[in-house]
Amino acid sequence: MTVITRFAPSPTGRLHVGNLRTALHNWMFAKANGGRFLLRIDDTDGERSEEAFVDAIRADLAWLGLNPDGEERQSARFALYENRFTLLKTAGRVYPCYETPQELDLKRKVLLGRGLPPVYDRAALKLTDAQRAAHEAEGRTPHWRFLLDHDVMIGWDDLVRGHQRFDPRTMSDPVVRRADGSWLYLLPSVIDDIDMAITHVVRGEDHVSNTASQLQMFAALGGAAPAFAHEALLTGSEGKLSKRLGSLGCDHFREAGIEPQALVALLARLGTSDPVEPFADPAPLIAGFDFARFGRAPARFDEEELAGLNAKIVHQLGYDAVASRLPAGMGEAAWNAIRPNLSTVADAVSWWSVVEGPVDAQVAEEDRGFLAEAAEAAARLDWSADAWAQLTGALKESSGRRGKALFLPLRQALTGRDHGPDMAALLPLIGRERTIQRLSSR
Ligand code: GLU
Repeated sequence: MTVITRFAPSPTGRLHVGNLRTALHNWMFAKANGGRFLLRIDDTDGERSEEAFVDAIRADLAWLGLNPDGEERQSARFALYENRFTLLKTAGRVYPCYETPQELDLKRKVLLGRGLPPVYDRAALKLTDAQRAAHEAEGRTPHWRFLLDHDVMIGWDDLVRGHQRFDPRTMSDPVVRRADGSWLYLLPSVIDDIDMAITHVVRGEDHVSNTASQLQMFAALGGAAPAFAHEALLTGSEGKLSKRLGSLGCDHFREAGIEPQALVALLARLGTSDPVEPFADPAPLIAGFDFARFGRAPARFDEEELAGLNAKIVHQLGYDAVASRLPAGMGEAAWNAIRPNLSTVADAVSWWSVVEGPVDAQVAEEDRGFLAEAAEAAARLDWSADAWAQLTGALKESSGRRGKALFLPLRQALTGRDHGPDMAALLPLIGRERTIQRLSSR
């Protein structure tokens, strides 16, 4: 059996971090099993779907490195949905309903008022042909519900949640088609999962009750149901699922200097029993991916944790991976020297300006003589090797200074800062001329 997963976003907005996580896990599971990962655009809602969002979804997946092995669109499959709908109608598994939203609301309120669960009473099933005709004559067009089989208990072994059980008698027959003929997500999704031979549906636990009714749709259409993995949702650092989390997407992360590898490394392990680690290459994450390691409690998404992980990833990135984003003239040696001090690749700009100068340094009165001495020593160095070791070695001898008193004034005069990259790596980048000039001008 070839594993086939699908990520099925509706193009009615940008992907947020929860969607990205779902996409990632579908991709990882497919990759871990030598399978296929499909992108399915759920654009049955023509009013709210936008082509710009479809493009953005593709771009976001590409940025994360989650390249689909195929792409499908629900709007291209309406004729197929129509066929299956006709079959279900003939079999009596979908039925027309004429209640208005107000009438349904009233029914719900009455039940709730009596302390009963607001389950649809199937009144539409009891309509006579004459009553139906009367509704139609009034200009009412029906919406359609799927008839749940009340005699079969619903159950499945969820890959994350364990065994799940639903009694169909406690569920409303789900509406699958609106009065204007448009499709709700439930039935087309099942038809697609059958036609595309989806083996594993990986999605958020907000879909658990949809799964219960969809399992009966798989059976009614004679299709084999896939396995299901319903993941606990993410929460924001504030505790509960925040509005903010819903607005955090790839643009935000990119602007914050987050590397896609950092987001992948965090989202791959968040909510699992494995530690979050700075893997710049997803291969080990994929190899260890296992739904059994996912917990059932909501996982906390913390932007600070992401920033910390990002820095560790940046420290590993090779020059080739970042060259196009570095300031002009900044070469591999400079990248390697500066990289350990960066939180984001974009920060390289400010360190490169330290190399190129001019730098603005405050020099203490008592260091002036020492720095003049340093300028003279710098002029006599052999700059082809270990310039920093030579410089500090010579100054140690001549000035008698040690440790901080020796190193800090040099660092400050040369970089204008108290901390930064290893001076041994930085000094050759600053070079002879600028070193002499910076030391002698203080
Ligand atoms: N379009 C649905 C959603 O975005 C897909 C859910 C599913 O994966 O089946 O929630």
